[in-house]
Amino acid sequence: MRLILLGPPGAGKGTQAVRLTERLGVPQLSTGDMLRAAVAASSPVGLQAQAMMERGELVSDEIVLSLVAARIEQSDAQRGFVLDGFPRTVGQAVALDTMLGEMGLALDAVLELQVDLNALVARMTGRVAEARARGEATRADDNPDAFRTRLETYREQTVPLSSYYAERGLLRSVDGMLSVDRVAIDVMSSLGLKL
Ligand code: AMP
Repeated sequence: MRLILLGPPGAGKGTQAVRLTERLGVPQLSTGDMLRAAVAASSPVGLQAQAMMERGELVSDEIVLSLVAARIEQSDAQRGFVLDGFPRTVGQAVALDTMLGEMGLALDAVLELQVDLNALVARMTGRVAEARARGEATRADDNPDAFRTRLETYREQTVPLSSYYAERGLLRSVDGMLSVDRVAIDVMSSLGLKL
């Protein structure tokens, strides 16, 4: 199955992506994780992306599309994948359609986690405080200023994707404000699957 998980930062996409990958036996393809790995490795891509990421702005399509194209071609993605954090703009969605079309592939569904955007800043600060209390490292862009930019970027550039995929009959929306387990059940059932 080839899926996209859509939703604002802090909506729980990463958590649900892990559940889906375990259930479906396909990899999670997170552009955020790929970019963070590039930054950690100080690769040319990482050096180009770092400042934008720290501010909570989008990295260029050129960088992101080349990461995704290379990842989709790897053998573990042949049976399918769960895209997390990509696409984030209509331009990226069109490029993904073209990329998959050239490979003779198509998306099966786009799952949207619907959350109250106003609740997300509180959710993020709570999550960061808990992680710090456990002595875990937190993300450079999990600070209030960058997080607000990430939310604003989402509102302006990513929200239009819902209608893009709804028009293509691919969109399934799930209430992301419920418990992690409940959301997981709803995500699976929107795909006609049981946990
Ligand atoms: P995420 O882990 O998905 O929240 O992504 C963290 C950061 O990586 C974002 O705030 C962007 O700076 C960058 N990023 C991740 N995915 C994309 C994408 N599809 N397009 C542009 N920038 C991205």
